[in-house]
Amino acid sequence: MSLIVMKFGGSSVGDAERMNRVANRIVERKLEGNQIVVVVSAMGDTTDDLIDLAEKIAPETPSAREMDMLLSTGEQVSVALLSMAIHKLGHQAKSFTGWQVGMITEAVHGKARISDIRPERVHTALDQGNVVVVAGFQGMTEDGEITTLGRGGSDTTAVALAAAIKADLCEIYTDVDGVYSTDPRVVKVARKLNEISYDEMLELANLGAAVLHPRAVEYAKHYNVNLVVRSSFTKNEGTLVKEEAVMEQGVVVRGIAYDKNVARISILGVEEKPGQLAKVFNALADQKIDVDIIVQSGVRDGAADFSFTVSLSDADKAISVIEGIKSSVGFKEATSETDLVKVSIVGAGMVSNPGVAAKMFDTISSLGVSINMVSTSEIKCSCVIGSVHLQDVVRALHTAYDLDTDNQAYVGGPSERR
Ligand code: ADP
Ligand code: ASP
Ligand code: MG
Repeated sequence: MSLIVMKFGGSSVGDAERMNRVANRIVERKLEGNQIVVVVSAMGDTTDDLIDLAEKIAPETPSAREMDMLLSTGEQVSVALLSMAIHKLGHQAKSFTGWQVGMITEAVHGKARISDIRPERVHTALDQGNVVVVAGFQGMTEDGEITTLGRGGSDTTAVALAAAIKADLCEIYTDVDGVYSTDPRVVKVARKLNEISYDEMLELANLGAAVLHPRAVEYAKHYNVNLVVRSSFTKNEGTLVKEEAVMEQGVVVRGIAYDKNVARISILGVEEKPGQLAKVFNALADQKIDVDIIVQSGVRDGAADFSFTVSLSDADKAISVIEGIKSSVGFKEATSETDLVKVSIVGAGMVSNPGVAAKMFDTISSLGVSINMVSTSEIKCSCVIGSVHLQDVVRALHTAYDLDTDNQAYVGGPSERR
């Protein structure tokens, strides 16, 4: 008998019919002789709808604590309904919130990290013959406060729980057939990967590939969880995420990711004196603003320009932090731009291939698109460009790195996403 964690995302349980279909899928897996723990997300666009609602009530500063209280309700609806759907098929199931299964997190609202899992109730309910249905995306601090794990965080609930209960397998069921060379909704000839290494997947996820939450991949790597991404709409084989993946010969770039959640902050005319960068980035760090790509221009007439990227939701806060230290830093102006996207190529084989980044720049410039910022590492190269060019650039890069397949990528689920 195997112990399997099956995770279903929001679009897989978007309405009652899909909920019933998922219940069938779970029961099939149980009848194969497995013990099943299910992790489920909020139905369809529920989380976005709840955020919209909160913005209507408190447009300026919704309390982070109350936001978590609100958003955690979405998953709670799903677990109760899914358990009922399993009961209807004549099988025992029991739903649990994150805190009921001992999902303990650090005391940070909105993007809490899991600090401990005390899954005694999962084991008890399994021993009693239940399918255990757990709400994703949520936890509780040691002080009993409800937290959420960040957008897309149900993947992390699933993988972390799989590690904690020593599951044999963790299956992430979603609305595409697996992990592709890029988002199959943007490039129709994207290539489905049979396997991908934890490191490459982590890089793709960190750079915006929504198919897996980055922290889920971190967990999988750390605890060596057998992880599969597959479709909840088809029976097709999915993608295995594992320590070492077999590379197709000659493949240097494995995948292309993009991130729309990017704002560029520029500080212009910064007085040239030692310690300026440190002042700016310490002030941002004090306010928990994560900074990604940083560029400093050469000094002209005793002044320099800095620019850096932050997530869209931090853009206004970053500007007010910088305005707050204007007198001590000394600069002309601070601006933010939000119509940008970061496009990245990823591949373990890039280290030993010096021409890879050059090809990226050539491909983008041959479309007449300017590159605003660049960042590279051994395994990736990222360019920030205007968001209107996203589709053209991703498609051209996909072709340039020989990633196109002859087959149209199969997309099992609905394409109407927010
Ligand atoms: P779920 O609701 O199941 O958690 P998500 O929307 O979070 O689903 O993730 C699945 C989506 O990720 C797909 O619909 C697809 O558009 C997007 N995606 C982005 N990059 C990739 C990729 N490289 N491979 C597969 N899907 C990707
Ligand atoms: N419901 C949450 C979200 O929409 C968590 C998840 O789907 O994984 O981000
Ligand atoms: Mg997701």
